Amino acid sequence: MKKQYAVIGLGRFGGSICRTLSEQGMEVLAIDIDEDRVNEFASIASHAVVGDATDENVLKSLGIRNFDHVIVAIGDNIQASILTTLILKELGVQHITVKATNDYHGKVLEKIGADQIVHPERDMGERIANNLISSNVLDYLELSDKHSIVEIVASERLDGHSLLELDIRARYGINIVAIKRGTDVIVSPLASEIIRKGDILVVIGADEDIDRFEEKVV
Ligand code: ATP
Ligand code: ATP
Ligand code: CA
Repeated sequence: MKKQYAVIGLGRFGGSICRTLSEQGMEVLAIDIDEDRVNEFASIASHAVVGDATDENVLKSLGIRNFDHVIVAIGDNIQASILTTLILKELGVQHITVKATNDYHGKVLEKIGADQIVHPERDMGERIANNLISSNVLDYLELSDKHSIVEIVASERLDGHSLLELDIRARYGINIVAIKRGTDVIVSPLASEIIRKGDILVVIGADEDIDRFEEKVV
């Protein structure tokens, strides 16, 4: 059976989640207190309803407990976000993701048992700053505070050399999990794979090891 999602709050963030889930063919219930917002999503989401998510009866009547995943994307009204999360928790919703506006908001959400707390503005800022610092790093995903997956553009210095020649795993302790070359993706490349300038290397490892490798690549 298809996973069922509910998105509460259809601002830029919640709206984008709702749109993307729908585009991926997921069942999405869109909820907002603002009728205009709801109308905007009537043709995008599977269902779109006007409702105040801080009202327990509203959430109950929508059968919110039966949804696999509920996303609370009420940003500016922190009180409404917290109260909504609390009610969802009490109703026994399986998995709750909540957008936090600041660290205090995030802390409270953690205390009341939100399963996943996201800080989109903060995280996107970090991401962009990191991209600004190293021009050859296209993107990164933090696995822990010490480990990441990073996309690095191969420079002239790597051009024409195989992974074996460069001895990357042994020398840097990192693994190249994939190489993107134009529209091709080479997943789990062999030691004999030859890197070309402009290849995008998807690298996994400890941050300090990735940094050492990056210095070499630049
Ligand atoms: P974003 O920061 O994602 O762009 P925004 O700034 O447009 O959002 P927010 O105040 O963060 O707006 O709220 C997001 C949405 O949540 C709005 O569309 C708002 O109408 C809705 N919302 C606010 N309170 C409630 C509530 N109690 N129940 C349901 N929806 C609500
Ligand atoms: P290891 O000696 O690290 O256990 P291995 O015995 O599996 O490697 P190969 O797979 O032939 O031997 O790889 C030889 C060397 O080539 C590795 O030690 C490593 O330095 C490098 N290498 C091969 N594949 C990768 C990869 N995907 N990412 C990074 N380095 C690689
Ligand atoms: Ca906002």
